[in-house]
Amino acid sequence: MSPIRLLLVLAVTVFTTEALVMFALDFLLPPMPALYANSLDAALLVTLVFPVFYLQVFRPMQRNIRELSELEQARRANEASLRAMMDNSPYRVWLKDTAGRFLAVNGQFAKACGMATPEELIGKTNRDILSEEQAEKYSAEELVVMTLHKQKYSEEYVLDHGKARWFGTFRTPIIEGAGKIIGTTGFSRDITERKDAEAQLRLTAKIFESSHDAITITDIEGTIISINPAFSRITGYSAEEVVGRNPRILNSGKQGKEFYVEMWRCILQNGYWSGEVWNRGKDGGAYAGRLTISALRDETDKVTHYIGVTSDITEYKTAQERIRNLAYFDQLTDLPNRSLLRDRVNQLILASQRDKRGFAVVFIDLDNFKNVNDSLGHYAGDQLLQMVAIRLRDSVREMDTVSRLGGDEFVVVLPEVSIEDAHQVARKIIGQVASSYLIKERYMTVTASLGISMYPADAQDLDSLLKHADTALYRAKGKGKNDYVFFTEEMNAAAYERMRLENDLRRALLNEELLLYYQPQIDLASGKMIGMEALLRWPHRELGMIPPDRFIPIAEESGLIIELGEWVMHEACRQNRQWQLAGLPAIPVSVNVSAQQLKNNSLFDTVERVLRHTRLDARYLELELTEHAVMDEVQASIEMMKKVCAIGVKFSIDDFGTGYSSFSHLKYLPLNMVKIDQSFVRDMPSKSDDREIASAIIQLAHSLRLKVVAEGVETSAQMEILLEQGCDSAQGYFFSKPLPTQELEVFLRAAQTV
Ligand code: C2E
Ligand code: MG
Ligand code: MG
Repeated sequence: MSPIRLLLVLAVTVFTTEALVMFALDFLLPPMPALYANSLDAALLVTLVFPVFYLQVFRPMQRNIRELSELEQARRANEASLRAMMDNSPYRVWLKDTAGRFLAVNGQFAKACGMATPEELIGKTNRDILSEEQAEKYSAEELVVMTLHKQKYSEEYVLDHGKARWFGTFRTPIIEGAGKIIGTTGFSRDITERKDAEAQLRLTAKIFESSHDAITITDIEGTIISINPAFSRITGYSAEEVVGRNPRILNSGKQGKEFYVEMWRCILQNGYWSGEVWNRGKDGGAYAGRLTISALRDETDKVTHYIGVTSDITEYKTAQERIRNLAYFDQLTDLPNRSLLRDRVNQLILASQRDKRGFAVVFIDLDNFKNVNDSLGHYAGDQLLQMVAIRLRDSVREMDTVSRLGGDEFVVVLPEVSIEDAHQVARKIIGQVASSYLIKERYMTVTASLGISMYPADAQDLDSLLKHADTALYRAKGKGKNDYVFFTEEMNAAAYERMRLENDLRRALLNEELLLYYQPQIDLASGKMIGMEALLRWPHRELGMIPPDRFIPIAEESGLIIELGEWVMHEACRQNRQWQLAGLPAIPVSVNVSAQQLKNNSLFDTVERVLRHTRLDARYLELELTEHAVMDEVQASIEMMKKVCAIGVKFSIDDFGTGYSSFSHLKYLPLNMVKIDQSFVRDMPSKSDDREIASAIIQLAHSLRLKVVAEGVETSAQMEILLEQGCDSAQGYFFSKPLPTQELEVFLRAAQTV
């Protein structure tokens, strides 16, 4: 303070104090007028009293006034900072007295209540600014706060400026030093964002908990920090067992190291990886999963966690595997089927085009497999095929493909082999297949024939390679089976010729270019003609007369035999009937029937139709079946034969002794005659074995009340032996070659006159 100002204050103070003292003395000392009747005394008194007064009253008073002013200043400062604090607070703040009147509010609160300034709210109550319902609710809360002397926090969803928002409010009692409640304060804040975040978090937690997919959360080191219940369900591991460990514990070993290297490269680069994995659960069982790994980043883009989500796709995988198996693997042997073989060969062709290395295709067919099926049943047949499949697999390298096309046909593909190697493998396969098998407690053997074609020398695509290997196989069979043959171009020519013959035969049948020759059958005792066999002839325009042995197999393979067989039967019956009508002796005609015709199920209908059309009496028709034809499907054959027999047609067994002659079956067949194969007849005079076989056949047939005819009798020596052995009849060049119609007519006329 400046000195002038100090002096001024002092003067005023002295004056004021003096006046005050005078006033006080007047007031306090009325009973002692003598003391101050004299003004001098009074001045003296003042002079005496003043210092005392100054020290005892004025100074403390002056101090008090200063302190009071300082206090006021402090109060103002406090109030200002309090208001600043209130106005800058994120909260809406208010202060109320016990009657609920606003004593003070901050700007936010005033604004929320639609007031321009906080002062506008002073003295107002809840009822003045809120709905009745809300006002009552808040007043009740304030009452609770005041009654319990405790702070209270509440959250509520309210409309705020037309928008539904969440608010969190603290209400606190204001307690005076003595513990008296003098009002309440309130702090309220918009917490919608926090509430939304909480809801989001709850939802995430729910998804985490209830997800069907296994969820693993790891830290950046890959250590598991959390898993969900689905993880435990799928893997069998509880949270306690895996938290703190690495997901590596699920590694099934089905994926190589490179797989994981690539996976992590992807995650580190893109923050994300997705793919299929095979994992292993706690019980050791593998399961397939579609795994997605995502890197979780914080605000600074730093990776903090990894989240792995695995959906169990084992069922889907298994189904997929099953479908793949059905589509690509043979169900009986588990070997690749034709489709997979095609895939593999196509891949090989691509690879071979690059590295110029060839491969071999080996076509394998079991010899006489039908017999196994027929004699031991289909179950045993299947077992045999399974065993053969294993042996074939064992005969080749891991990289080779062994596939089954169906039936008893297998194809082995040998990559990167020379012709010499293929020779070696073929020999090995033949040896392996040929050793005996134990099936149904019986040891049995089976052999295989192989046809081999080479890529790229023989053909450049699978179909041609297979066709060529099949052609070679056909050769191997023809050579006597249990052998292998490599495809050669000449075979191709043969295959081409076969195709040509098939086309020509079709045309010949259509144009009625085929002929029937007849060979008489002679009763040995009387020398009389007792029958004739119709034998098919094909006079080819360019190739001349083609023997049936050459074109019947083609007709059988192509299915043309059904049509051809009916034509033969029809023609033989028509001719026989015509001869009878012409007055020539009624002599039965034998017609050869192929196995395919017997199997076709339409044999009865054909016979019946032919007889009806040609009006030939059924007793003049005899059908010749080979043992093979009958034995192919014995039961079905017997049924069909019985049906045909029932209308009066007879049956004979042709080429008897060449097949798997089963005498036990013979007795169940509705037969009339057995034809001893010419191979036994041929060497009869020189070979006692053949004589004995023929003799045995004759005796056996007779014991079954069957007639016997010997085929291919060319000499009188043969005839005499047969006669001696009791053979009933014979046919052969010794009596007559097969003759065209007109010539047989001559024969018939001669027979008539005998
Ligand atoms: P197969 O039924 O055993 O017929 C007998 C074959 O022996 C005939 O041959 C006949 O010409 C021949 N042959 C007859 N006597 C002698 C002889 O003394 N010595 C020799 N070496 N051979 C003799 P072909 O006519 O060439 O017929 C061959 C085979 O073709 C027949 O054997 C038969 O299995 C089949 N075949 C012929 N015609 C038909 C037919 O219409 N349908 C069917 N499915 N097969 C037929
Ligand atoms: Mg015959
Ligand atoms: Mg014969």
